[in-house]
Amino acid sequence: MKQLKKYLHPIIFLVIFETVAVTLWLTKNNLFYLFNFSYIGLSISFGIFLFIRKYEHARRVVQLLVGLYMLVYLGLICQENMQIEGFWFYLFTGVFEAATIHYAVAKIFGPLIFGRGWCGYACWTAMVLDFLPYKNPSHERKNIGWIRYITFAASLVFVSALFLAKIGNIEKIMFRAFIIGNVLYYIAGIALAFAFRDNRAFCKYICPITVFLKPMSYFSLIRVKCKKDRCIECGKCKRVCPMDVDVTDNSRMRKNGTECILCMECVKNCPKDAL
Ligand code: SF4
Ligand code: SF4
Ligand code: SF4
Repeated sequence: MKQLKKYLHPIIFLVIFETVAVTLWLTKNNLFYLFNFSYIGLSISFGIFLFIRKYEHARRVVQLLVGLYMLVYLGLICQENMQIEGFWFYLFTGVFEAATIHYAVAKIFGPLIFGRGWCGYACWTAMVLDFLPYKNPSHERKNIGWIRYITFAASLVFVSALFLAKIGNIEKIMFRAFIIGNVLYYIAGIALAFAFRDNRAFCKYICPITVFLKPMSYFSLIRVKCKKDRCIECGKCKRVCPMDVDVTDNSRMRKNGTECILCMECVKNCPKDAL
């Protein structure tokens, strides 16, 4: 019974993902959904299990399992554009498939429950950026987050233009856009990480998906909270946070609160077990 309680969180995650997997499989009559969401659920549950077992690289294991699956299998082999252009494309065609389901689950409604867990455990862009040497930003955050609205608008204008110009074979263009978009994201992400000495600079200033992620994760059910009676205000949690979150403030308005990627670095490093 004690063991079951200890591993309750991975079990809950597995049940949630299996419920989504079976529901979509039966309602859409497509076995792919059973495989897809079961695989992602198993990967995440396995990561939480490793975290409970105090394995240092638990998060990175999940990031690689899910990120590589989405980039290589869904993106390159199945040729699904899971970037934001793919979302607009399927939305305009009125099809609730692939990228629209992915966005609904991972980036629009899911963050109401698990915040920006996507950014910490599944994103294939961050999967590469997190290998770079600047895990803890050494500079103050820059005031250039408005760039995300430009990249967001650019993706919408790009797909709208394809539809308005009635260009044929848009699927092929979307696949090319996926390849080119990813290459550009990686180049921009790596260049910014070195320029700002911050692995997550791309996430903070450029990524268009944060336009969805930030407002939704404001209401996230899962949050890291501080037990004030234990905290000695040593500031270590803020120093190790890759997203500059003031995690000692429990209010939803806390500084950079919508940036938390649930990486648990603050929790692991708190000397007083206050988080
Ligand atoms: S902010 Fe964007 S690039 Fe960064 S992890 Fe989240 S989705 Fe990926
Ligand atoms: S690391 Fe722990 S003790 Fe130190 S400020 Fe953060 S919550 Fe408080
Ligand atoms: S270190 Fe803590 S506050 Fe910062 S992103 Fe990770 S989980 Fe969130």
